Amino acid sequence: MHSFILPPTKTVADLTRAARERILILDGAMGTQIQTLGLDEDDFRGHGGQCCSFHSDHPQKGNNDLLILTQPKAIEDIHYAFAMAGADIVETNTFSSTTIAQADYAMEQAVFDLNVEGARVARRALDRATAEDGRPRWVAGAVGPTNRTASISPDVNDPGYRAVTFDDLRRAYGQQIRGLIAGGADLILIETIFDTLNAKAAIFACFEAFAEHGARLPIMISGTITDASGRTLSGQTPTAFWHSVRHARPFSVGLNCALGADAMRPHLAELAGVADTRICAYPNAGLPNAFGKYDEEPEDTAAKVEVFAREGLVNLVGGCCGTTPEHIRAIAEHVASYAPRQIEETADA
Ligand SMILES: [Zn+2]
Repeated sequence: MHSFILPPTKTVADLTRAARERILILDGAMGTQIQTLGLDEDDFRGHGGQCCSFHSDHPQKGNNDLLILTQPKAIEDIHYAFAMAGADIVETNTFSSTTIAQADYAMEQAVFDLNVEGARVARRALDRATAEDGRPRWVAGAVGPTNRTASISPDVNDPGYRAVTFDDLRRAYGQQIRGLIAGGADLILIETIFDTLNAKAAIFACFEAFAEHGARLPIMISGTITDASGRTLSGQTPTAFWHSVRHARPFSVGLNCALGADAMRPHLAELAGVADTRICAYPNAGLPNAFGKYDEEPEDTAAKVEVFAREGLVNLVGGCCGTTPEHIRAIAEHVASYAPRQIEETADA
């Protein structure tokens, strides 16, 4: 179970060395790029791409992860655009590729393939980019929170009720993580964590999958502060959040989504004050406007993210909702001259 005693692979050693030398860059929002394609129901099902071998009577428009199987070239090109914009680490398009999240589209049967192919399509894009400029890049297998919470009842009249249990989540995440590993993911990114118990199930699933695989992949853990008081939805401050996940000995811990960079800064500073691992931040492009769109310009987001670097708070930065390849290019340029936050490295992190 304690697979963190397994030796790191060369890929991990390269990643660790790169993180020591500079602030690493993550990619931006997949959803924003997919929206610009203007895909309809037919496209989601594979029209003009590859026909999906999994059938569901449920409408699939909006099931962005399914595009891994039905429009793999489009997804590869988005990953490639982020890589060429300066991303060292690119996230798979698998945020909702669990049986729990795919139940919304009656696509549970596609989950293992989504994760295997999700990692492969990202790897292809990064290999294309590396063939052009020789820079190494890493695939982060993206593990989302699912749309259910293990800590909080969705029913106000029944506070003890849970729509999902730790074991449901552990099993679903286990299937996802095994698929990501099979497809060649270099690390696992547990992101947009609003409920720490969900994340703990994902961490547990990682340990189980790593033990089977015979190698430990680095784990990145990223929480989401959802309210102005600086707490996650399950009620934790950044400090409490760190103490809840530090047993995973993550490669990085950090924050993403929900808030723009300005509002994220004090919470990031708190986390950087307590965590003895790398700090990762990928905020949204500001706050959404009345139409749910993000209109913060690349230079504005980048200037705000630069503050994190100037204050010595971060080791990895990127973008969440609303961030485009132009945002990532600007962020990479703005942080390039700053040293990464100093940490004491342990043998396995
Ligand atoms: Zn986001």
